[in-house]
Amino acid sequence: MSACCIIRMRCRRRSRAQLAVKSVNDEMAHGKGKLLKAAVLRFANILGETGVYRYCCPGIMPVFMLHRVYDGEKAHSGGLSADQLRSYLEYLTAKKFQVLTMGEVLRYLNERKPFPSKSVFFTIDDGFADHYEVAAKVFDEFRYPLNFFVITGFLDRQLWPWDDQLAFGIARTSVKKAELRLPSGESYCLNLRSQGISEAIRGLRDSLKTVDQQGIYHWIKNDLYRVLNVPFPKTIPPEYSPMSWDDARALQTRGHGVYPHTQSHRILSTLSSLEKREEISGSLARLAEELECSPKAFAYPTGRISDYDRKDMEELKLAGYELAFNTVPAYLSLDCDHYQLPRFSLPEKMPEFLQIINRFEALKTKIRA
Ligand SMILES: [Zn+2]
Repeated sequence: MSACCIIRMRCRRRSRAQLAVKSVNDEMAHGKGKLLKAAVLRFANILGETGVYRYCCPGIMPVFMLHRVYDGEKAHSGGLSADQLRSYLEYLTAKKFQVLTMGEVLRYLNERKPFPSKSVFFTIDDGFADHYEVAAKVFDEFRYPLNFFVITGFLDRQLWPWDDQLAFGIARTSVKKAELRLPSGESYCLNLRSQGISEAIRGLRDSLKTVDQQGIYHWIKNDLYRVLNVPFPKTIPPEYSPMSWDDARALQTRGHGVYPHTQSHRILSTLSSLEKREEISGSLARLAEELECSPKAFAYPTGRISDYDRKDMEELKLAGYELAFNTVPAYLSLDCDHYQLPRFSLPEKMPEFLQIINRFEALKTKIRA
């Protein structure tokens, strides 16, 4: 071996060693950064108990959005345990927070009255069976209202949400790599070798949010499942079961609110005018056949700013809706557009919950602004 080769090998070994040391250093720095952040948040939350942030940021209110809630064993990825949810509500009770109803939220907005310093509002999207069987029962223990946005076609058992169908198929496939042709005609590489299952689901779901969703259910059932080599379930899988209309009526009699969340959960901004109308007015009409919808409130599927447009807001007004919620993480204030009311995802951990509920998050936003 020449002297030159030996020097090159040594250099390669040295650079590999340097890279390994750098990666350990980065990880340690990342770990220290996380510890420091947690310590700062702990201190900020202790200060938050005094009400100082609420004093600095008056008149606003957090609206939380729940998705899946489980009691005992977890049947699906994501979601919050009933015990964790209970601990949040116990905190609100101990600190004498006021949990508002939809009617009260509308009244504050219409009368332009600032939201009380210790007020909060809870919503939950889609209409799964666990919403009725678990989440509602936890709220009942505290006599707090929870507001359910339900996909009417889901409660009618005509469909289950397209994003869950996608997750169900990818989680069960043994195919490691597949070239897909999206409904838009673009090709998409699903690579389960280089991505984890969650990452693969997230990637494909995000790509599908921007394509024309008119035929999304047909595409998932006939194209995606065929490529994944997974049989499409003949009935809704138990972990994705909806609540029934009887359950929804029972929720109303117990003081909770039930409101439309479209007929099929397709992304409104990708649909034609006629389909938008069917999703917005049609879901309200279907809900009104089963129960009362007052005030008329709505939540956009997936709810990012890009998931709905001006035409959808016009359509909501024409249909008689008074309020609509998106999923932009911010506080509700009197300056908010009634058809673009923001919501925070309900955090999975207490420190993050306290950060929002005691308005430390609001103060941070104010300082940044
Ligand atoms: Zn939804």
